[in-house]
Amino acid sequence: MVEEKKTKTEKISLKILSRFKGRGTRKCRFCGNARGIVRRYGLNICRRCFREVGESIGFRKF
Ligand SMILES: [Zn+2]
Repeated sequence: MVEEKKTKTEKISLKILSRFKGRGTRKCRFCGNARGIVRRYGLNICRRCFREVGESIGFRKF
């Protein structure tokens, strides 16, 4: 019975998470910032993180 209760709460938490991970929401994968998102190549990261991560990927001066 206890396990049943646990799975129920897990399902609810997943439902809440899915709301934030929907296709409509565009947020930075690293810091969660929704402003200045770079959607190039499906990265979905903000400009700030793009500067940090972009260099390691191969982008410069963006
Ligand atoms: Zn970011």
